[in-house]
Amino acid sequence: MHKLDLLEDQFDRQKKIVWWEQERLLNSKVLLVGAGALGNEIAKNLTLVGVGQITIVDNDLVDLTNISRCVFFNEDDIGKNKAELLSKKIKSLRNINSDYFIGKIQELGIGVFENFDIVIGALDNREARSWVNEYSRMFGKPWVDGAIEGLNGLVRSFGIDGVCYECTLSEEDLKLLSVRKSCALLSEEEITIGKVPTTATSASIISGFQTQEALIYLSRKKVDLMPLISQQMTFFGESMSFLKSKLKEKKDCYIDHECIKFEKIHLDFNQKIEELINKYNISPSSRLYREIVSNCLCAQCDNKKVINKYISSLKQKDVLCANCNSEMQLETEKNIKEFINYSLNELNFPDNELIISEEKYILLTKEI
Ligand SMILES: [Zn+2]
Ligand SMILES: [Zn+2]
Repeated sequence: MHKLDLLEDQFDRQKKIVWWEQERLLNSKVLLVGAGALGNEIAKNLTLVGVGQITIVDNDLVDLTNISRCVFFNEDDIGKNKAELLSKKIKSLRNINSDYFIGKIQELGIGVFENFDIVIGALDNREARSWVNEYSRMFGKPWVDGAIEGLNGLVRSFGIDGVCYECTLSEEDLKLLSVRKSCALLSEEEITIGKVPTTATSASIISGFQTQEALIYLSRKKVDLMPLISQQMTFFGESMSFLKSKLKEKKDCYIDHECIKFEKIHLDFNQKIEELINKYNISPSSRLYREIVSNCLCAQCDNKKVINKYISSLKQKDVLCANCNSEMQLETEKNIKEFINYSLNELNFPDNELIISEEKYILLTKEI
């Protein structure tokens, strides 16, 4: 029997659903952000139904309290990277493609979203949700958000136009978020919210809805047919009841609700920027979408350190003063002409990152 025949048999029951498109699922790419309680369940579901490519992003390590809610983690895994471990475990569960990134989603190039059909958030903090929201919209990808607390939870989907996650936040939430966002580099402790009570059952219920929402999209590739598009379904576990509500678009939302048009260039990140400018006809007056930290200065003891690294690659500990341990002030630069003697790799420029050249967006991706 051919491998394809075996696959067809394996998925036979779900293929009996009239609108189900197994072939599309096998060719789908999902970005799963978060490998905790929800992430474990979502990864399991996506694997069982036969989604072709699952990329998992998480910064965290497995700890003892994860074990009771994460089907793929056990006591021997304490201290291992969640993203790597989860990716390995689902690959051993079924013959699927999966890769992973150990780090925060903010450390990846913002154009990473472009490489996927849909994004699923299995997150526990606003900063990461806000990031996923802004850049999945920018690159025109729908995303499904889920959250759990106690026996309760919620699921909602954001499409490629209209209401976005930021529209759902209160003025107070937005204020808190903008304070956090104004700190260029966040420490882990600052972004991790309190330890909320959760159970394996609420993770299983909410992740089931999130996965099903994503599957409906992947089978039909029509955002309008997602049952929860621009809506929120809240689940009250103690009474086993649901409330479904429409999410309202804020006309003055500071996130651009339209996706962008961009050009994509594959290039060698080891070449000097000067060579790239000539080779690809990039304007020397181009600007980076995010900034390079050129120097940092200590306000306490006047210590100065040359950095010249892309901001996404720096952690708070990288900008502590070696003399007095104070957090140093950052000097940043966005003009690429300041760095023409550097290669993108020397600057820690992330793969899939944007530059703006004469009002045009150009996505720079690594030549393989
Ligand atoms: Zn919005
Ligand atoms: Zn100092």
